[in-house]
Amino acid sequence: MYSELISNFKFIIITIILLLLSCSKEPPIFKKTKFLMDTVVTVTAVGPKEEVEKAIDATFSEIERLESLMSGFRKGNDVDRINRSAGINPVKVDKDVLIVITKAIEISEMTGGAFDITIGPLSSLWGFGVKENYIPARADIKKTLSLVDYRKLHVNVQKSEVLLKEKGMKIDLGGIAKGYAADKGVEVLKGEGIKAGIVAVAGDIRVFGKRPDGKPWHIGIKHPREKDKVLTTIDLEDSSISTSGDYERFFVKGGIRYHHIFDPKNGLPAPNCQSVTIISKEGILVDALATGVFVLGPEKGMEFIESNKLIKGIIVDSRGEVKVSSALRSMTPRGKIGL
Ligand code: ADP
Ligand code: MG
Repeated sequence: MYSELISNFKFIIITIILLLLSCSKEPPIFKKTKFLMDTVVTVTAVGPKEEVEKAIDATFSEIERLESLMSGFRKGNDVDRINRSAGINPVKVDKDVLIVITKAIEISEMTGGAFDITIGPLSSLWGFGVKENYIPARADIKKTLSLVDYRKLHVNVQKSEVLLKEKGMKIDLGGIAKGYAADKGVEVLKGEGIKAGIVAVAGDIRVFGKRPDGKPWHIGIKHPREKDKVLTTIDLEDSSISTSGDYERFFVKGGIRYHHIFDPKNGLPAPNCQSVTIISKEGILVDALATGVFVLGPEKGMEFIESNKLIKGIIVDSRGEVKVSSALRSMTPRGKIGL
């Protein structure tokens, strides 16, 4: 009887030790940050240190490569060559540039032109990040608008060629390239054998797999008006999330807030949202749609989100009111969205 008790006790102790050991066997998680694509890029990966470090470095190299292809400030890169050849001749481009431009045109069509990468001449005229608090004259905006039209951007997939039909036209990939970089970053991590991680190019984030504790990744969405607060936290596995806001690049003059997301219809900063968050599978899609839905505004924007089964979203309108798409409402276990 006594010896039976001892052996049971031993069994319990061994089980507890085994349990503790299995808990401490959670795979480690590593994170690295670099300034790329004009913003902060953070790559997180789960796995053994050496393997993960190698994978993260390869991810940064890939994002650097994409930056040099797609930046609007690199002389001689594909974007620069397309813009300089506007109205003259088609330009042969890299496969990734072709993918991004093709997808951008598709998203322009989906959003009725609210998203339009031929916004380039308008971005240059306003000059966010280059000029200081500059408001262009109405006449200059009007003149520039005649150069903004995605229907005059032609892609020949077979030949890998891109042509802007009119002289003076310019593409600007600022509203889509970061999401694509998140996609490609994840592709590299997976190719290196990593089973779970996050690639965050500022607010363009793609996650895959699960956290080491087996739970989904918790992704915070910035509050558009209170710098250190989050609007909410979303649990995500194998998906992408992107937030576009009027708080990243802006200035206030005469009580009006001017920011870097333009309505291609009138050439002015889109006035009706503070921020738009889109969730779906692909980074390239959510990045461009967050920008496009921002331009559409809260009503048309939410209608657009609800009409597409593959996307979910949150819109904070210009008064700070928060609208959540129905599919997302049932998915956020962290209570009320907003503050
Ligand atoms: P962020 O760059 O802050 O992540 P977005 O993804 O919304 O925000 O991209 C904004 C950028 O997209 C602008 O800086 C500009 O380069 C470009 N852009 C602005 N308006 C439009 C638009 N209507 N369609 C496509 N791109 C746009
Ligand atoms: Mg965007």
